[in-house]
Amino acid sequence: MAVRIDIDALRSEAGPAACEVADRLLAAGEPETLVAADGGVSCVIRESGQPAYEVWVGVTVDGFTAECDCPSTEELCGHAVALTEAALEDGFAWSSAANPEREIDPRVAELAELAATLPTRRLALLLAEYAATDPVLAARLLAYAGKLGPATDAELADARRTIDDLADEATTGDLNQVEKAGRAIVETVQVLAQRPPTGELLLLVEQAARVWDRIVPPLLDAWKEYEEEPGEIGGALRDLHVQLCAEVGPDPDELAERLVGIIRAAEVESCLDEPSDYLTVLGRQRVRRLQQLLRSRPVSG
Ligand SMILES: [Zn+2]
Repeated sequence: MAVRIDIDALRSEAGPAACEVADRLLAAGEPETLVAADGGVSCVIRESGQPAYEVWVGVTVDGFTAECDCPSTEELCGHAVALTEAALEDGFAWSSAANPEREIDPRVAELAELAATLPTRRLALLLAEYAATDPVLAARLLAYAGKLGPATDAELADARRTIDDLADEATTGDLNQVEKAGRAIVETVQVLAQRPPTGELLLLVEQAARVWDRIVPPLLDAWKEYEEEPGEIGGALRDLHVQLCAEVGPDPDELAERLVGIIRAAEVESCLDEPSDYLTVLGRQRVRRLQQLLRSRPVSG
């Protein structure tokens, strides 16, 4: 769930002394790198003449929460304020989605509790029935069972062909076909994303994004009928790409360069054109450079 943070309320809660420290740090370019952690964001603050402090801020069940190594006895120290401002400035998504140990949806928790009371065989059969008709669930099941190695070259080539074929089918002028192709492309990469993450898989998702960018324009034109679909499909591809980037840890400069290529190649707009989503992989400076570069790009067509 996305969360909004009111920085003015936060600053007045922290008090003038902490705000002064925060402003000094931000003016000096601190924190340099932000990392998504446990649904919040963390960083290491380095100020000359001071030890490095590790800081974490996030929204927990107790509301806005800050943890810092520094000796301050206040709830909110200047480091926490600086981190929060930096994260807000970079458009950090205050969501638990990036958290590997994310909080479980209450409805899911309730059903899981109920499921735990059933005999294992019945539960296994129920799950298998669904997995038999849902390739993503089937792949996840195999992954949980430790039966899936990294995708082979042949499997990746197969997926590439599938994606290209789907794109070809979507060029008939039938809008419904474009949407169906988009959802099938998402499913194709989601199935593979259940495998151990690799650089090749990351490139495959990037190819899928390029293909979607290429076939989506007619749907964007028909926004009255297809208001949500392009965002849903593009967003799913981007989420997957961001997640894989975090897992694979590609060279940030090379990744930034590829993103520029993909975004610029899009005729109308690219589903990967959300630089701030890549904050944890690219770092703040690269995200900012990317935003500036893309803002200054020549308008094509
Ligand atoms: Zn502190």
